[in-house]
Amino acid sequence: MERTLSIVKPDGVEKGVIGEVIKRFENNGLKVVAMKMVRMSKEQAKGFYYVHRERPFYDSLTDFMSSGPAVVMILEGENAIARNRELMGATDYREAAEGTIRRDFATDIERNIVHGSDGADTAAFEIAYFFNELEICG
Ligand code: ADP
Ligand code: MG
Repeated sequence: MERTLSIVKPDGVEKGVIGEVIKRFENNGLKVVAMKMVRMSKEQAKGFYYVHRERPFYDSLTDFMSSGPAVVMILEGENAIARNRELMGATDYREAAEGTIRRDFATDIERNIVHGSDGADTAAFEIAYFFNELEICG
């Protein structure tokens, strides 16, 4: 069993696809064990995406992530990290495989509907960034 952090980004909330995204997780062996809606501040978004601080899109990305409510959740399942990344599809929706969340709903490389942890270390950091132990119903 493995845990990963998923976020329905502000564009996903705006487009009304929270339920659709969660349905795909639940239909593919990923169980939601914690969830909440958050409106990140610019500072919180910068902290979350600290690894990208040197990237040219850092300022724009953190503006976007703090532009409206997002849904953050912990997914649990076998190979949850890789399985979630598979369901999400490539970062750029134009390169994402058919049937993936980003391919189906994203219209922009930055506004790409979902976030998912990319490894065990980042999953641990990202889960702790939003949730304490008492909020996780594993
Ligand atoms: P992923 O979310 O697939 O793990 P990255 O970690 O590389 O992708 O990037 C984090 C987020 O930054 C992406 O999901 C996307 O919102 C944004 N992003 C990545 N690359 C670009 C880019 N070239 N231009 C604008 N935004 C980008
Ligand atoms: Mg990433």
